[in-house]
Amino acid sequence: MHDFVIAWLRAAAVRVHEQAPALTALDQAIGDGDHGINLDRGFTAIVAMLDERPGPEDGTTDATATADLLRACGKTLISKVGGASGPLYGTAFLRGAGAVAGVTDGSPAESFVVALEAAAGGISGLGKSTEGEKTMLDALFPAARAARAALDGGGSIVDVTGAARDAAAAGAAATIPMLATKGRASYLGERSVGHQDPGATSATLLLTVLAETAAAGSSDAAAATA
Ligand code: ADP
Ligand code: MG
Repeated sequence: MHDFVIAWLRAAAVRVHEQAPALTALDQAIGDGDHGINLDRGFTAIVAMLDERPGPEDGTTDATATADLLRACGKTLISKVGGASGPLYGTAFLRGAGAVAGVTDGSPAESFVVALEAAAGGISGLGKSTEGEKTMLDALFPAARAARAALDGGGSIVDVTGAARDAAAAGAAATIPMLATKGRASYLGERSVGHQDPGATSATLLLTVLAETAAAGSSDAAAATA
C-alpha cells in the first residue's frame, strides 16, 4: 500500500496542476476562485514532502508505513493550504491514516474502503456538513458506499477504486442542480444552483487518479508474472 499511495500522490499532483484552471473556474462561479490554486499548492507541497521523506524504517509494517505517510500528507495540507479545503482534505488524510493503521491483515481493497469511509466522516465532522449540501461530500459519501458494496461483493483494489470513481463522478454531476447550504457557495443562495461544486469535482479527480493508479499497478503485476 505504501508505494501505491506514493504513486497515487505523485500522479494526483500532476493532474491537479493540469486541472487547476478548471477547478478555479468552477470556484469563480460559486466561490472565490481559488480552489484549483489551493489544491495545486497543497499537492505541490505534498510532492516536496515526498522528495524529502526517508523510506520506512526496516521492520515497519506496511499498514504503519502507509498510515505515517497519509498522516504526513494531512499535516502538509493543513499547514500549507488556506481556505476551507486545506483543513477539510487535511483532516480526510489524517482520518484515513487512522483507519489504515487499524487494518493489519486486510487486503489493499479493504484498507482503501475503510480509509475512504473515515475520510468522508472526518470531513463531515469538521465541516458540520452532510450529503445534499453541494460539497465534496456529495462525491465522497456515494464513493465510499459504492466502494464498500464492491468490497462486499469480493472486488479487488481495481474494482473497488473503479466503483468509487464512478460513484464520485455521478455525485459531482448531481451537485449541479443543488442549492449550496455550506461553505462560501451558500452565500449565493439560489444563484449557487446550476454549477458543479468545485470540491466535489476535485474529490472525483483524486479518486479517478487513484483508480488509474490501481489499474496501472495491476497491469504491471500481470506483466511481471507473465
Ligand atoms: P474556500 O471555500 O475557503 O475558498 P476552497 O475554494 O479551496 O476553499 O474549497 C471550496 C470547496 O470546499 C467547496 O467547493 C466545497 O466542496 C468544500 N467545502 C466548503 N465548506 C465545506 C463544508 N462545511 N463541508 C464540506 N465541504 C465543504
Ligand atoms: Mg474558494
